[in-house]
Amino acid sequence: MLPPETKNRLVPPAGGGGAAAPPRAAAVARPPKLTRPGATSALQAPVTSLWGVGAERAAQLARLDIHTIEDLLLHRPRRYEDRRHFKNISELNKDEPATARGTIVAQGLKRFRKGTKSVFEFILEDDTGRLHCRWWNLPFMEKYFAVGDEVFVFGKLVETKPRTMDHPESEVIEGGEESFIHINRIAPVYPLTEGLPQRWLRGLIWRALERFENQLVGQASRLSPSLHQENLRQAGSLSYANAVRMIHFPEELTDVEIARRRLALDEFIALQSAMRLRRKNFEARSRALRCGGDNRLMKPFLAQLGFKLTDAQTKVLREIRADMSGAGVSPARSESATRGRDALANTTATPMRRLLQGDVGSGKTVVAACTALMALESGFNVALMVPTEILAEQHFRNFQKWFEPLGVKVELQTGSRKTVEGREPRVESQRCRSSSSLVPRPSTLIVGTHALLTSGFELPRLGLVIIDEQHKFGVAQREQLVRKGDYPHLLVMTATPIPRTLGLTLYGDLDVSVIDEMPAGRGRVKTFVRTADKLPKVWEFIRAKLAAGRQAYVIYPRVEEQDTANDLKAVTKEFENVQRVFAPFRVGLLHGRLKSREKEEVMAAFRANRIQALVATALIEVGLDVPNASIMLVENAERFGLAQLHQLRGRIGRGAHESQCILISSAKNEEARQRLKVLEETADGFRIAEVDLKLRGPGELLGRQQSGLPKFRFGNLADDLDLIRQAREWVAQNG
Ligand code: ADP
Ligand code: MG
Repeated sequence: MLPPETKNRLVPPAGGGGAAAPPRAAAVARPPKLTRPGATSALQAPVTSLWGVGAERAAQLARLDIHTIEDLLLHRPRRYEDRRHFKNISELNKDEPATARGTIVAQGLKRFRKGTKSVFEFILEDDTGRLHCRWWNLPFMEKYFAVGDEVFVFGKLVETKPRTMDHPESEVIEGGEESFIHINRIAPVYPLTEGLPQRWLRGLIWRALERFENQLVGQASRLSPSLHQENLRQAGSLSYANAVRMIHFPEELTDVEIARRRLALDEFIALQSAMRLRRKNFEARSRALRCGGDNRLMKPFLAQLGFKLTDAQTKVLREIRADMSGAGVSPARSESATRGRDALANTTATPMRRLLQGDVGSGKTVVAACTALMALESGFNVALMVPTEILAEQHFRNFQKWFEPLGVKVELQTGSRKTVEGREPRVESQRCRSSSSLVPRPSTLIVGTHALLTSGFELPRLGLVIIDEQHKFGVAQREQLVRKGDYPHLLVMTATPIPRTLGLTLYGDLDVSVIDEMPAGRGRVKTFVRTADKLPKVWEFIRAKLAAGRQAYVIYPRVEEQDTANDLKAVTKEFENVQRVFAPFRVGLLHGRLKSREKEEVMAAFRANRIQALVATALIEVGLDVPNASIMLVENAERFGLAQLHQLRGRIGRGAHESQCILISSAKNEEARQRLKVLEETADGFRIAEVDLKLRGPGELLGRQQSGLPKFRFGNLADDLDLIRQAREWVAQNG
């Protein structure tokens, strides 16, 4: 909850020469922050235009990513120091950081070990006692202080007799005109870089605020001045300019969060309007290809499938068909419906842009297959892109099995394997035939990896793009594939349950369908968190399961490209060990450094149960489907994110057998083990993802590849769902 009007609370202390915030100027035209197309206002001017900022300072600021005056004004304090109240030196505690203020009564630099080591120390005194402050191996600190200086220090005691702080943050108190900026107030403490003094930066920001505050206009006001007022009341009655001032120089510490939320709101609005603009452009330019199909392939496909679709799968397919047939005109799209359409499309709707979310094992592949059939029946080609070669091979095999009896050509294109030599002319001719004949004929499904993105790859008459495990790709890659066609339909699928906040932020321009039901007849997966000393028992347990005919995965932390051989050696070393432990059962090894052919051979052997246990890295995380594998052991489990472990665990519990997932954490860290317990308690991917988001942040949750994620200065995706919702509403009404 945000308190009411706070506008006039931010008058600087009397005698400071600073005026109250001047009234905000009428909306200054300013580009959305996210795009920043060049210098179009005073705020976009370089920091060097400020008095006192020369080349050296500018270089230091640039290291903090501060280039323009706006960057400077939005440089977020790292913490705040209440310099109205200090602890007496006598009250300082161990383990409790606090600010003290005193006068330097003695100081000196001591060198030892032949001058290679040093300690600089001063003694600070106030009315209650003395405090020793030490800096190890930073001899130049001596230059900054002198006996008689008044100083603030912030830190915690490392010793109490005598009271000592090591490497406290410190700032000399200087008198003069500007001292009010730094003392007797809540002072901001900024992230710094080498050579940049806290006090100098604080002064600079203060003066920049004084001069440019009236130019600060938020996104909300840029969108609509009248709405601006109304919405700001909801968001805390705080103007953008006031919020910026408050984030730097709050009256009370509680003001900081109020200001942060106001500024975060603006960031979310900027992002949402950029997304909406993208969607609008898309709607204006595109038209839906008619890809609804006529069921002539779908019927036999479903008949041979061997199971009935779940209600959730059927519901999702209905949503998809509405998009694909070009009949469904959602309210969001109605605007574009009035625009002219050419005869070819003969439809008023825009192409499908749909995200399909469903927990691991919920049956997304079959939905993808049905969607593909709709396009194929309509005479279009389909591309399916997946993040790994193993998954591409698996999908290729499945789709071949499903589709070739129906007369659909299925092809594969990965970095190492292509089945499409000489494909283009053939597909070309097919296209001619299909466009000249009235009855469209089935065309081609091509399954591939990133290799589909290469400039050499082309697929004429591309009606539908499907991207599996979308979270492994960036938004840019998604668009790159889509551009291979003339506005094909797009279905992206993900098993990483994306918390609502992230979903709205990342996929705000997509419609969302959710498979919220698992196919019946699945064995349960039980999860156990154990310490490493239980391993012998665990091996015994797994052996018994292998003897009973099951198969097992044994997982070690992933091998990163930039990792040294260490991790890899661990996998290979453990491989020998596991072979010994499980003999005479056969054990395979799978990791990212194997050649594709080798990987494929190992997978084939595992699938055919010629290998009973698979020692692997997290490579198997995505998509693999071997129903007889019912045990998973993950070592060093604390090195994985929860959402990733949930994905890994999704490899088991795919058959009718009861499955076990054992997470070994050698972490002495109790906290790490507590975190893992979440997996023991719940199988709800959304809950797990939310915990992960809180604990590790969005970058970790989504992986490095998720390049679509913008950087927020103030917004916090883990906590700000209400603001993201508000931002969406505003933009929907006013964008
Ligand atoms: P994911 O959503 O993780 O991609 P898959 O599509 O790989 O899951 O499906 C997991 C397993 O469930 C597959 O073996 C698939 O054949 C099976 N499956 C999918 N839908 C159903 C259903 N309606 N009934 C029974 N089994 C199903
Ligand atoms: Mg899948």
